[in-house]
Amino acid sequence: MDLLDTLTAKGLRGEVPTREEALAVLATTDDELLDVVAAAGKVRRRWFGRRVKLNYLVNLKSGLCPEDCSYCSQRLGSKAEILKYTWLKPDQAADAARAGVAGGAKRVCLVASGRGPTDRDIDRVTDTMAAIKDADPEVEICVCLGLLSDNQAERLKAAGADAYNHNLNTSEGTYGTITKTHTYADRVDTVQKAHGAGLSACSGLIAGMGESDEDLVDVVFALRDLGSDSVPVNFLIPFEGTPLAKEWNLTPQRCLRILAMVRFVNPDTEVRIAGGREVHLRSMQPLGLHIANSIFLGDYLTSEGQAGQTDLDMIKDAGFEVEGAGEATLPRHRADVAEADRAGGGCGTAASACGSGGGCGPCGGHAHTSDASAPEAVPSEAVSPAAVAESGAEDELRSDLVKVRRRGAGTELAPNA
Ligand code: SF4
Repeated sequence: MDLLDTLTAKGLRGEVPTREEALAVLATTDDELLDVVAAAGKVRRRWFGRRVKLNYLVNLKSGLCPEDCSYCSQRLGSKAEILKYTWLKPDQAADAARAGVAGGAKRVCLVASGRGPTDRDIDRVTDTMAAIKDADPEVEICVCLGLLSDNQAERLKAAGADAYNHNLNTSEGTYGTITKTHTYADRVDTVQKAHGAGLSACSGLIAGMGESDEDLVDVVFALRDLGSDSVPVNFLIPFEGTPLAKEWNLTPQRCLRILAMVRFVNPDTEVRIAGGREVHLRSMQPLGLHIANSIFLGDYLTSEGQAGQTDLDMIKDAGFEVEGAGEATLPRHRADVAEADRAGGGCGTAASACGSGGGCGPCGGHAHTSDASAPEAVPSEAVSPAAVAESGAEDELRSDLVKVRRRGAGTELAPNA
């Protein structure tokens, strides 16, 4: 197939495809799916070998957010029956992080709900990072606290943070239908603040919110332009109690096509299968490892993942290996560019200029709400007809597939790692 030969050749050279080529990946048929996975797999192995980076989420503060992100179970007016708690103490967070590191994670992701941190919150996270690094100086720490004010990124960097996560989530054109309490530009600004302070930028997307193929390609190219070092690909978890509770627009095949498109556009960047992996890829998860080089171990912020040991078994059975603490994630040339960008206080890859970014990590939840102050759900006409036809989207709640997290951080029960 000419398209896949072209994309493979470009990917092996570290080149980015055209927008039309990226759209064509999303338009491939199920008969072509294994060829698409194989082509993306060649690119993945060129830059990342058979390594899988494990990341571990610690939800420092859960629920009760004043923002209205439609996809999020922690949002204003959410009726989702998630765990709600305020800031974990540093030793509690360090205990949770330790479980993830013992399970094989090399990066711990410290996430808190909210519009953005106060300076006191930065102090709390500073103390938490110190407790984690005291126990394991090698562990990478990524922080995700929402929109940053001036000088907060610099404080996090000085306190030992390695990366900052703030997802773009969707295209600039669609953003206003998903969230009304902040803008796409706000998110871009925070990613740029983090990058400018010398933090590695982690910024990704959520697929399955009713966006078109063009929206997906827009956001993935924007992430490339933004110079994100890691791109988490979330698949919407339609939490009961959120506006997007009935948005079941994804099939395992479409998820694999989306992952492949993200890989071709980001051949030498960490591509992570994030929230929704178990819910939407289901038994096809191992094929996703041929495209992505990174996953979350165990549970998500507000929903449960499969058992951590099952993640490890899956990686081994599929012929991959867990990336060790001493191994570099990014290929040398890509790490050099990222380092130069950070040293220069700018953002963007060698191939691109500044873009945009922002937002919380893989919240893994959504809530239907009758709160009058909440935004309307994404209008149904925003859903790609092709996506609906492909998925046979079910206009129903699928609570059998979405399990609210009841263990780990904020509970008396052991974490899943
Ligand atoms: S994604 Fe973040 S900012 Fe948006 S509602 Fe959820 S916790 Fe709040």
